[in-house]
Amino acid sequence: MLNGAALVPITPVMGSRLPQRDDPRLERRVALALLFVGGLTCFLGGIMKADLTDTARTVQFCSAASVLALGTLVLVTPGRRLLMHIAAMGSIVSLGAMLATSNSLGPTAFFLLWPLVFLAYFSSRLRARVGLGLMVATVGVAAAVNPYEANRMDMFVGTVVSVGLMTGLVRLMTERELALRQALADAANTDALTGLLNRRGIEPELERLLAAGGLAVVMFDLDHFKRYNDRHGHLVGDQALRRVAGVLTGAARAGDRVARFGGEEFTVALTAADAAAAHAYAGRVMDALRAEDVADDLRLTVSAGIATLGADGLTVESLLHAADEALYRAKATGRDRVVSAAAPLPRAA
Ligand code: GH3
Ligand code: MG
Ligand code: MG
Repeated sequence: MLNGAALVPITPVMGSRLPQRDDPRLERRVALALLFVGGLTCFLGGIMKADLTDTARTVQFCSAASVLALGTLVLVTPGRRLLMHIAAMGSIVSLGAMLATSNSLGPTAFFLLWPLVFLAYFSSRLRARVGLGLMVATVGVAAAVNPYEANRMDMFVGTVVSVGLMTGLVRLMTERELALRQALADAANTDALTGLLNRRGIEPELERLLAAGGLAVVMFDLDHFKRYNDRHGHLVGDQALRRVAGVLTGAARAGDRVARFGGEEFTVALTAADAAAAHAYAGRVMDALRAEDVADDLRLTVSAGIATLGADGLTVESLLHAADEALYRAKATGRDRVVSAAAPLPRAA
């Protein structure tokens, strides 16, 4: 595969590796809408159902009050996702209490879809399962104890199967959506030819390593690569770029980040590295390129510029700029060499 598309796997990531929902504000708005609309609907039902027994009406008002109380709790404590998920589970129990006592159930069981679909879409697979378990248990108890229910089995099976299947379906769609979002993010941050990070992908990594301290940036540029392409053709040139990607990755340590910055230019972020470590890394890369088992006319050399945190800059931007300048000097002074940004300028002839 010369276009390298196979290097970017678009495979679904399932279970605990799924990314988290990244829109807590939407989740909160939906939770508040469900809890307040649900609580008020329940309250109005308690007023309007003329034939309710006293016990059933009391339980319905208590359920409405508890759901509205949970909504208020969510309203006054923003940023607590667990609380929203517990509130959804609480409303399952409230609905269960109504199912257990009401002499006029009507569509009450349908309302179980609200908290369960919410959990399936916004919470984790585990919490959606806990919600389902709670629903099965409460509907089971309600069907067993409701003194007015003639068709207990119908009520139990119909509710559990319908609500369970719908919750499972929403969870399935949710996991597919999350996996697609992850694949899209991975593809946007990955260079299709080499499978390395691209420029967009390494920028947050550089910021992260900078914050951790001890960052060194090494910028590589292939020497006379235009000539190489002209001589061997672009497809062989592409293979050379992949070889270099392999060498850069092979010489790096765990935690270092290698990116194709553009064209035939690569940037490597070395974690917890000083200038000596960065020189050693660039040296390993050059040695590996020299030792490649290829015909002499396919051999590659690179020039490298090094910048280290503190000595050459304090921000990602200034480090990249310093490494780029050092690389320029490596080119200007003959190529196939490493120049440190901190190194003194060569004296003018
Ligand atoms: P220098 O030593 O000064 O860096 O010379 P150079 O020839 O490497 O630099 P120049 O900027 O003149 O040319 C860069 C070449 O890189 C030209 C371009 O065709 C090649 N190149 C950039 N991206 C790709 C790519 O994806 N595949 C291939 N095969 N070549 C590429
Ligand atoms: Mg270049
Ligand atoms: Mg070049």
